[in-house]
Amino acid sequence: MPVTAKLMPIIKMPDPILRRTAMPVSEITDGTRQLLDDMTATMYDAPGIGLAAPQVNISQRIIVMDCGKDDDSKLIKMVNPEIIDVSEAHTLLEEGCLSIPDQTADVERPAEVKVQYLDENGVSQSIVANDLLAACVQHEIDHLNGVLFIDHISRLKRDMILRRIMKETRQSTLKN
Ligand SMILES: [Zn+2]
Repeated sequence: MPVTAKLMPIIKMPDPILRRTAMPVSEITDGTRQLLDDMTATMYDAPGIGLAAPQVNISQRIIVMDCGKDDDSKLIKMVNPEIIDVSEAHTLLEEGCLSIPDQTADVERPAEVKVQYLDENGVSQSIVANDLLAACVQHEIDHLNGVLFIDHISRLKRDMILRRIMKETRQSTLKN
């Protein structure tokens, strides 16, 4: 982790940037690499296992993830990621989101996905993700398309979460 990485404020629901489709990165520059480092530092600080650029108020197709265990870091930085294959088998995993604090729900997604992306040097890479990483990469790519995990759950459960968020937003507005 470069010493120059800085923490960025994490955007929370219902900020409209979370619903916008992010723009592809046309050229990977030192600025892109700095953003990837800043996002990585912000993700670890939160702490979280994934972060997408719209969550730090930047509408670009960039994500970082680390689904490794504590002492076994598996940092992956992706620019312009694209899901190019999904398994027929689905799994149900509990998900949360740094932009929807304190709320979780079981989300059903393909159990395995193949993802193509550019690394921080602009080299094309692909991975086959399973288990937690599969859920994580799908969750983060969703963010680039303005989709949140609550869009994948039943309306009943979603309305419950939305009511709680609205209540918390009202309370913090009153405090300010
Ligand atoms: Zn999220």
